[in-house]
Amino acid sequence: MKTKLRTSSFYWDLLKMNLLPLILLTLVITTFSAARFAASMNTEAKNGLVNLCRTVNILFDSVYEGDYQIIREGDDIYLMKGPHRLNGDLAIVDHIKEQTGVDITIFCQDTRVLTTVQTEGDIRAVGTKANSRVVEDVIRDGHPQFYSSMMVEGVRYFSYYEPLYAADGTCIGMIFCGKPSEEVEGLVFISIIPIIVFGIVTMLVVSFVTLRFSNRLIAAIRKTESFLETIANGDLHTEFDQDVLARKDELGDMGRDLIRMQKSLQELVEQDILTGLYNRRSGENLLRQTCERYRKEEIPFCVAIGDIDHFKKVNDTYGHECGDVALAEISARIKEHMQGKGFVARWGGEEVLLVYHNARLDTAVSYMKELMEEIRAHRIRYGDTVLSITMTFGITEGNAGKVEHIVRDADTKLYEGKNSGRNRIVYETA
Ligand code: GH3
Ligand code: MG
Ligand code: MG
Repeated sequence: MKTKLRTSSFYWDLLKMNLLPLILLTLVITTFSAARFAASMNTEAKNGLVNLCRTVNILFDSVYEGDYQIIREGDDIYLMKGPHRLNGDLAIVDHIKEQTGVDITIFCQDTRVLTTVQTEGDIRAVGTKANSRVVEDVIRDGHPQFYSSMMVEGVRYFSYYEPLYAADGTCIGMIFCGKPSEEVEGLVFISIIPIIVFGIVTMLVVSFVTLRFSNRLIAAIRKTESFLETIANGDLHTEFDQDVLARKDELGDMGRDLIRMQKSLQELVEQDILTGLYNRRSGENLLRQTCERYRKEEIPFCVAIGDIDHFKKVNDTYGHECGDVALAEISARIKEHMQGKGFVARWGGEEVLLVYHNARLDTAVSYMKELMEEIRAHRIRYGDTVLSITMTFGITEGNAGKVEHIVRDADTKLYEGKNSGRNRIVYETA
């Protein structure tokens, strides 16, 4: 009967113990690495814009000598570099855009006078205004500023603004260098893909290895548990899994101990202590199995009952202990004789049951004759006493009938033998 009180499984505990921390650790490391890498990529992109902005500044300084100044003519406003009017002079900014993909804008105060940025209708955004926050930060405060997401003509820009100063030190405009944020984010994402892929692959490999290890461990534990359960249910002859027994770890040791325990239990339950033969209960079970096999496969078998002649006299003459020795020695001889032929069980006091497998009556009788000779020739030594004994056997061929009837038939023949002088085999021809 099952007495399982289990409400959880070692398998899930093992997975929780191994897999969850590993997955969490890999996720944390991957996320952290990816975030750090993305941050350094952003810094790199930002530094690129800052350097480009400076390059544009230096380029304007070297191409056009003189200071920045603003000139107004009516409603029009012009940004001058020395005597040169910068408005509409697109050659430099277009060239840089072509080379770097970065948009450049020169602002005269908050108005774009020179730009590669286009409005939604694909017209250059000349004359449009800067975002008020940028005007506040860069022109009013006079500080360069970086924005990771600044709207420029309807597009989010990763942008850098640097103020432009007139000769008197007043801030009169600014230079803008920027790339659409989507482009930068796309590049950053592409660059962190290997880290994410590496993290996922590591996680999968580790999970696979852990699962394989756990599965094998649990399979071995379950086989051990099932073996024990079968034994607990009374089947002492169940076989233990060879793979578990071949393990070189604690589970293998446990398996080998269980096999020893199984053998001890078999001996305790099935063997007779004095003679080392099967006891009557095991003999009956084995005989039933033999009969079953005969019914299924018609493998012939023979059943014999043997009894020591005048054994009471042995006890009375030499003592009970001497009788025990004689019984044990004769049993050992019979057991040896039955090797490979069938089995022998202690049926009663000095009675044995012999079952010959795969043998017709004539074969079994010829075996028995050899056995009779061996028993007669055997000398039992007990102290100074040397004695020999004889036995009488009744033997019959098995059939599909009841086990009890077959045994009774052999028993009847045994008593015929006893009544007709002992020291003989009584059988009938088939
Ligand atoms: P028979 O030839 O008719 O079989 O004569 P027998 O003396 O053998 O028959 P009986 O049944 O009268 O006696 C059997 C004896 O076997 C009686 C009993 O003391 C003895 N015996 C049974 N079991 C043991 C045992 O385990 N040890 C010893 N020493 N004697 C035993
Ligand atoms: Mg007897
Ligand atoms: Mg007897």
